[in-house]
Amino acid sequence: TPALSIRNLRKVYNEKFEALKGISLDVMPGDFFAVLGPNGAGKSTTIGIISSLVRKTAGTVEVFGKNIDTDFSAAKKYLGVVPQEFNFSMFEKVQDIVLQQAGYYGMNRSQALQQTERYLKQLSLWDKRDTPARMLSGGMKRRLMIARALVHGPQLLILDEPTAGVDIELRRSMWDFLREINAAGTTIILTTHYLEEAESLCRNVAIIDQGVIVKNTSVKSLLQQL
Ligand code: ADP
Ligand code: ADP
Repeated sequence: TPALSIRNLRKVYNEKFEALKGISLDVMPGDFFAVLGPNGAGKSTTIGIISSLVRKTAGTVEVFGKNIDTDFSAAKKYLGVVPQEFNFSMFEKVQDIVLQQAGYYGMNRSQALQQTERYLKQLSLWDKRDTPARMLSGGMKRRLMIARALVHGPQLLILDEPTAGVDIELRRSMWDFLREINAAGTTIILTTHYLEEAESLCRNVAIIDQGVIVKNTSVKSLLQQL
């Protein structure tokens, strides 16, 4: 079973603009997969649909075989999503933001505390656990987004332009972290408009342009074609 399977996915905004023109895509378990494309290609729309934040016009999405429409709660357990924009409350403390997410996934208190500690430590945020989110640097906020997405132990992690606007040093450390969790078995899909990021991290890549997948291949063979 693919970690992610998308079939004939379409999105029409405002009944006139076709942002996704029927895309299909499979990502296999264990893969580190890039969705590469310029601004406006449809990357965020695709992620929005997978995470049920954007309503699709047509098509199907399955996460480890679970249809996001008919089997939403099962699909949701497999999935962690890191959107591009910070969407936690800036007034809440770091630890509470992650704990609250664990609660959404039905973890009991001790499990939630344990997993929160684990991921805050992994992302070097444990010292900041009692700090309100608004006091964090941009890089720390981005790491908080990742800790929150991982707290329920998803097998598939999807990140929307995780290193956009991130300085080179933090980018390197985020890359190392993502490589580690992929090596430990988590399937990762990230969107990017940097070929360099796909090249450095990913095994397979789909190139999306104007709502169409124009190439779907290994990163190695993409580089040979350039
Ligand atoms: P709704 O239809 O749910 O009221 P909109 O579709 O107007 O919401 O907008 C949803 C979000 O997408 C908003 O944050 C908006 O700023 C953004 N948005 C709207 N139009 C565009 C566009 N053409 N390109 C990119 N983002 C857009
Ligand atoms: P990417 O993430 O690749 O930059 P998006 O998925 O954000 O692309 O956008 C794809 C296209 O859909 C763009 O042309 C964008 O302007 C448009 N779009 C995105 N969100 C909205 C929205 N809420 N309402 C109308 N158009 C949108």
